[in-house]
Amino acid sequence: MKPLAYVRAGSLEQALQLHSAGSHCLGGGTNLVDLMRKGVEQPSALVDLTHLAHTVELREDGSLLLGAGAKNSAVAAHPAVRGHFPMLSRALLAGASAQIRNMATVGGNLMQRTRCLYFADQAGSRCNKRTPGSGCDAQGGFARYHAVVGGSSACIATHPSDMCVALAALDAVVHLASPEGTRTLPLTEFHRLPGDRPELDTELRAHEIITAVEIPPSRFARSSTYRKVRDRASYAFALVSVAAGLTLQDGRISAVRIALGGVAPKPGRALRAEAALLGQAPTREALQSAAGLEFAEATPPPDAAFKVELARRLMVATLSELSGGAQ
Ligand code: SF4
Repeated sequence: MKPLAYVRAGSLEQALQLHSAGSHCLGGGTNLVDLMRKGVEQPSALVDLTHLAHTVELREDGSLLLGAGAKNSAVAAHPAVRGHFPMLSRALLAGASAQIRNMATVGGNLMQRTRCLYFADQAGSRCNKRTPGSGCDAQGGFARYHAVVGGSSACIATHPSDMCVALAALDAVVHLASPEGTRTLPLTEFHRLPGDRPELDTELRAHEIITAVEIPPSRFARSSTYRKVRDRASYAFALVSVAAGLTLQDGRISAVRIALGGVAPKPGRALRAEAALLGQAPTREALQSAAGLEFAEATPPPDAAFKVELARRLMVATLSELSGGAQ
């Protein structure tokens, strides 16, 4: 058995000190502990962050602050989140099981790793994300859950989070701390596309820790939702998901946000569709045209080709629901 040191951090300063000395950060452990059991992750020391930063706070200006240690279940059930940011509450409730949501934290949700089966198969599969330069068995293998946009010749894994899809749509900002100071990153710039370095999931620098996620006030957040298509009704990762918010003025779309899950290596905005829809009447033709634009350059592996049409249809259905039923 490999020895493992464990410390529950009592302060951010202690956490930063231990992390800088080589300890791996531990949130709820719902992903990391699984990967440790499989030998994919092999830390020699853990610093437990779960007793830090539990804040869920709606501020006077309408922004929302989530401490990195806030539990997914607490965020989903918070009246301010349910009332002001329904897409975030729905995304969290669509993720995992109630037991896992009771353990999983905001910071850990951002840091979870892909559920590509080959990545987790330490003993039998080649995986560039797990072992750089070893190859990618998903390409030419079983790739039903893999990316249709944004992948590379090195990796076509998708990001598994539901929460992060909603955060991308809501223009969330990630707060980071290190011994050198603090900084912020937009959520959409926190995760990386694989390129030729698929082993790097995020833009986190050495010794940095996530301290909070902030969601600014928005015009569309109250009129927003999250829809997810998966192979079974619960405890399954997204084949495709859509987080969307929309407002209408004089029958035309005055504000719109769309983010997609299950289709790319990182959660991201559907910027082409958003641009095409702004100022348009939300007719079925306009929604279908915008959804088509978003996936015009999709390059799915054969197993995942169905996800392109599924994503288009889910985007149209979600936006149609928000606009009161497109004609
Ligand atoms: Fe590994 Fe990415 Fe290939 Fe999956 S898709 S086997 S995570 S390199």
